Amino acid sequence: MIKKGSLLVVSGPSGAGKSSLIKVILENLDNVYFSISTTTRPKREGEIEGVNYYFVSKDEFEEDIKKGLFLEWANVHGHYYGTSLKPVFDALEKEKLVIFDIDVQGHESIRKKFNDITTSVFVTTPNLNVLKKRLELRGTDSKEVIEKRLENAKEELKRVKEFDFLLINDIFEEAKKEILAVAKAAKLKYSNKELESFIKEWSD
Ligand code: 5GP
Repeated sequence: MIKKGSLLVVSGPSGAGKSSLIKVILENLDNVYFSISTTTRPKREGEIEGVNYYFVSKDEFEEDIKKGLFLEWANVHGHYYGTSLKPVFDALEKEKLVIFDIDVQGHESIRKKFNDITTSVFVTTPNLNVLKKRLELRGTDSKEVIEKRLENAKEELKRVKEFDFLLINDIFEEAKKEILAVAKAAKLKYSNKELESFIKEWSD
């Protein structure tokens, strides 16, 4: 049976440690591909164009929406964020596990389109206070931006039931093991079509 790739959606509040955990997957597992999103939000210190995001203007983003270049896009705390369609399909063809760092709206869109090959995990801190401290320590956002992110986090958490797994990132060494377990399991997702052909082949 030919197996195409599968998808792993990682969501959760900014500051919960999603990027660090995704890095762990990329460094430890083969055949994984990180979907680099496009955004209109300003670049943070240390971020690299084409590594963390593709940074574009609002006009460019709206052009791309019109052209139908996005698999999904959303407005998250006042900025556009979107996933380009083509690289995802290419990676799936190459049998990769495609990893997304997207919000709950993005998760909903991906689920609607690719439910059978999708695994999802919501990453968060043990509580809101820890998140606040981590955002303040990171020092990349202003007080107002942090407040906005915390409000957004409370809203996002309400949708945690839509996810396969909840990963509470308290002790990073533990969280590392957990995200690797989730990613390994995500690789074992097959599309309904693949499963049907497997059933046929298996008893032939
Ligand atoms: P940040 O500004 O902290 O990098 O990201 C803010 C939020 O936008 C995070 O929850 C992140 O997961 C989400 N996000 C990043 N890229 C995308 C995307 O392409 N689509 C959607 N729907 N959300 C995204």
